[in-house]
Amino acid sequence: MNTANIKKFVIGVIIRSDETLSALIDVKGEIVAKDILKTSDYPEVGGFLQELSMRIMKLIELGGGHDHVRSVGISAPSGHFLSGSIVNSPNMPWKGVIPLAAMLQDQLGMAVALANNAYVTSLAEHSFGSARGMNDFIVVTLGSGMGSCIFSNGRVHQGYDGFAGEIGHTCVMTNGRQCGCGKKGCLEAYVGAKGIIRTAKELMEASDEPSLMRNLEKLSPRTIKECCDQGDQMAIEVYRRTGHMFGLGLANYASIVNPQAIILTGGISHAGDWLIDPTRESFEANVFGNMRGRVKLLVSKLDDRERDVLGASALAWEVPEYSLFK
Ligand SMILES: [Zn+2]
Repeated sequence: MNTANIKKFVIGVIIRSDETLSALIDVKGEIVAKDILKTSDYPEVGGFLQELSMRIMKLIELGGGHDHVRSVGISAPSGHFLSGSIVNSPNMPWKGVIPLAAMLQDQLGMAVALANNAYVTSLAEHSFGSARGMNDFIVVTLGSGMGSCIFSNGRVHQGYDGFAGEIGHTCVMTNGRQCGCGKKGCLEAYVGAKGIIRTAKELMEASDEPSLMRNLEKLSPRTIKECCDQGDQMAIEVYRRTGHMFGLGLANYASIVNPQAIILTGGISHAGDWLIDPTRESFEANVFGNMRGRVKLLVSKLDDRERDVLGASALAWEVPEYSLFK
């Protein structure tokens, strides 16, 4: 075997609404070099693409060029794996359908795969995290938006059009809160960052009870959690209500999919037991009886940043190799 032709690196890219991280990663998952670009500086996707491909080219050069760097894996909000496009993202400045993987593949002359955050996260959890050795599990990412990915029989279940796993936009309340997707009563409207803030505001408006939350300069899932840590009863109630809705949504999901585990990731999962205890209680109360006590509810142990990059590299290794230069 000619080992000189085995490529040792891939590029992992994490696109977020505020910044985009690109990294050169070796076969062991070690980050060799990285670059951070401010996504919010580019209201037009064309300018963003030019800058991103230039920065990725620099990382490819650092890795020894196209002979040594194999492919690119990208995590993007509303990323659609089957088409390699960002599809109608409510959280990004670029509207409509953006075929980012194809555009970048043309620029770089190298295979590019793109998926949403939940998909990429689930690859990382399967290869490096809590789902190692599991074939049937769900990863739920919880931040400003809410996504999930279903692993079934050891593979990602994508659905007919590749949109499977939209747990955030399943209805948990008839005529409930308005969601960013246009529907009413979606789980995300209660459990996503904006939903948690709204619950806190509703509780504060409903009574004159004192609460540390009233003195906060900025109400956010993190600052509300900090109030919980100081024993603030109203803040604890915010997460109790959030956990109640979350557990209900997850119980419906698990009753259909029957996973071995549900792994929670994303910023809001850092609320820890303030969120997880009521979620677990509501989950067990609402899940189908034969699954009660059988589904593990786990919080990811991987570092957020590291997990995303590892997942993007796993995605890059999965894509078939392609080169303009062969
Ligand atoms: Zn929705």
